[in-house]
Amino acid sequence: MNAQPTPPTVFDVQRVRADFPLLTRSVHGKPLVYFDNANTSQKPASVIEAMDEHYRRHNANVARAVHQLGEESTAAYEGARDKLARFINAPSRDELILTSGTTQSINLVAYSYALPGLKSGDTILTTVMEHHANIVPWQLVAARSGATVKAAPIDERGELDVEQYIAMLTPEVKLACVAHVSNVLGTVNPVREIARECRKRGIPLLVDGSQAVPHRPVDVQALGCDFYAVTGHKMLGPTGTGALWAKREHLEAMPPFFGGGDMIREVRFNGTTFADVPHKFEAGTPNIAGFVGLSAAIDYYDSLGFEAIHTWEQQLLAYATERLREVPGLRIFGEAAQKEPVISFLLEGAQASDMATLLDLQGVAVRSGHHCAHPLMQFYGVPATLRASLAFYNTREEIDAFVVALLKVRKLLM
Ligand code: PMP
Repeated sequence: MNAQPTPPTVFDVQRVRADFPLLTRSVHGKPLVYFDNANTSQKPASVIEAMDEHYRRHNANVARAVHQLGEESTAAYEGARDKLARFINAPSRDELILTSGTTQSINLVAYSYALPGLKSGDTILTTVMEHHANIVPWQLVAARSGATVKAAPIDERGELDVEQYIAMLTPEVKLACVAHVSNVLGTVNPVREIARECRKRGIPLLVDGSQAVPHRPVDVQALGCDFYAVTGHKMLGPTGTGALWAKREHLEAMPPFFGGGDMIREVRFNGTTFADVPHKFEAGTPNIAGFVGLSAAIDYYDSLGFEAIHTWEQQLLAYATERLREVPGLRIFGEAAQKEPVISFLLEGAQASDMATLLDLQGVAVRSGHHCAHPLMQFYGVPATLRASLAFYNTREEIDAFVVALLKVRKLLM
């Protein structure tokens, strides 16, 4: 018998949208078109309800209480660590530090891993397309140690010059850094290849995964990097949640960054000893309800599956790019062969901020500005761009409404 080809699965975007309460609202009397997902994503009801339920029924501090509520809260918080570990295929849950987001994750590596070993003449390698969170912490620790921060170049299409990045992996480089996905251009960087080259040279690699985890399955073991930072609020979770995954050998060798409660074994004035990883990096009361929400966000991704998400988002990206190319005088920044659904653009003769304000009046939320990527703006010779960043709950109809709004705004400004 001939095997029947499996029919293509249809992504039921309307059913998905029904899970996101905020998407039903209007802005300035117009239906909301939310295209600012790279800034922060919207949250499904299951995330909001999980947090609500936590505060209504389970709220207590973690790790400190032996009572029932304390146990429930601790189980929920530690459960989030398990889920995140599985989400990025970390070899062990103990290698996941729960943080407030990528900014904290990278600063932890900067101050606890990099700074103690850095000396004059050392280099930290990053790239021109990075978010400031993957530049400024390196500059701060370089300034304290006499080290230098170098940035690998990109080309006009917004692709990393990988050959050049690899050529810059000289013996002075003590840490290499790269974004998995650019928050401005959508470019997907070849992290596996970079990691392979770093390993050959014994250089540890940090990957900023903030813009990757909302769109694609991440497997830190397959990537072969040393550190991977994520932010929860861009992946359907609450603000103030995130994580750092790092190889155990690094975490064992790193001194604590914040000191305080919950990160110690024993405190004495003649010598304090610290908790095992990951707890030695988690001083103080964490964002417990936030991680309860992030657990629910991961469940939500699991319920859809990244295959379906990726296929739909790539269709949206192709459609939005095609429609934007119809707008006279519109220039797209970032045309890498591999992209996530982020489109930066400018309209000839118009200020990005004026356009964003006028688009908002049409109900369209996009971001304008430098997107925390000054060096990238300097590379393109522009002070700012507009950025439409899409999520799997966006639709072709929203892209159509966006283009209609853009044409209106263009008329007003020309
Ligand atoms: N890196 C990238 C690529 C980002 O897009 C962002 C958020 N805009 C960050 C880092 C910082 O994330 P957070 O502010 O959530 O820590």
